[in-house]
Amino acid sequence: MPNREKTLTEFIIQEQRRFPEASGDFAALLNYVRLACKRISFLVGRGALSNLSGTSGTVNVQGESQTKLDWVANDIFLRTSEYGGHLAAMASEEMDVPYPIPPEYPRGKYLLAFDPLDGSSNIDVNASVGSIFSVLRAPDPQRIATEADFLQPGLEQLCAGYAIYGPTTMLVLTLGQGVYGFTLDRGFGEFILTHPQMQVPRETSEFAINASNERFWEPPVQRYVAECRAGKSGPREKDFNMRWIACLVAEVHRILIRGGLFMYPKDSKDPAKPGRLRLIYEANPMAFLLEQAGGGASTGRGRVLDVTPTGLHQRVPLVLGSLDEVERIERYHQEHDQGLDQPFSSPLFRERSLFSQE
Ligand code: MN
Ligand code: MN
Repeated sequence: MPNREKTLTEFIIQEQRRFPEASGDFAALLNYVRLACKRISFLVGRGALSNLSGTSGTVNVQGESQTKLDWVANDIFLRTSEYGGHLAAMASEEMDVPYPIPPEYPRGKYLLAFDPLDGSSNIDVNASVGSIFSVLRAPDPQRIATEADFLQPGLEQLCAGYAIYGPTTMLVLTLGQGVYGFTLDRGFGEFILTHPQMQVPRETSEFAINASNERFWEPPVQRYVAECRAGKSGPREKDFNMRWIACLVAEVHRILIRGGLFMYPKDSKDPAKPGRLRLIYEANPMAFLLEQAGGGASTGRGRVLDVTPTGLHQRVPLVLGSLDEVERIERYHQEHDQGLDQPFSSPLFRERSLFSQE
């Protein structure tokens, strides 16, 4: 019999058979996450026809304005996932505090953290958006979960992934044994395994950063970007390309497909925020995926997955992508912190010094 396509559900069953001691709970939980992503995909795909465009006039706990779709997507995640009896609580970008499972449903042993609609400002311009999710074990399923229960380092994640709603909808996931990508077949509504064992190339000549913040970056990041921009004539001796989609999911997806480096580094724009992206439901799930695909994820000064969270909505500096580049950035931070780095001088600057008076 020829190999037939494998659905996401079958993939999860297969993974479960490899670990017979695992209970069926986990597979069922993932089926609800998958259903939530399909529902959001359908809604996002309807665009203006869904009458959900524009902002809701509210701001979330991080002070960002929320779109109506942020709210609806959050609600879809809650309503879809609360029912099955697998979760002790859920936490989201859009909610100040964790959402306990309502008393009418059984409580389970997992915690689900998510960003229901990542890059939601892309919606109005019909560019890619996504959903990010992370599954943790509830420390004590007997009692109602608290915010503190979610404050586990990313290394404790059992599963993480995202859905990307682009020209096609894909769900990309790790259970801690590699990264697998599934494409939604809209004809019969199933995710089909299309990208087994995704691997991030070690080397790259692409980077992504919001360059409008350059004046707020720390010297190691300024050095890295200046060196990339100097291209063939600079110390890297090769030309780089720059990308920016303004949606973490889309940036990570591009990197999982063809390599690259993404940075939202620490900056001095708002000293109260040591970075822009949130640790628990953005940086951690993406770091887990990147590491499982042979890439890296760092704060610039250490592995993201090692950070012990101190708050549900804590932000971190984030550098992720091809391993060689992530390691280089870490080295630049180290050299800077030890006072060993040379400020980078561009070729233009050197040329000018030929004409200087000295
Ligand atoms: Mn986001
Ligand atoms: Mn969001």
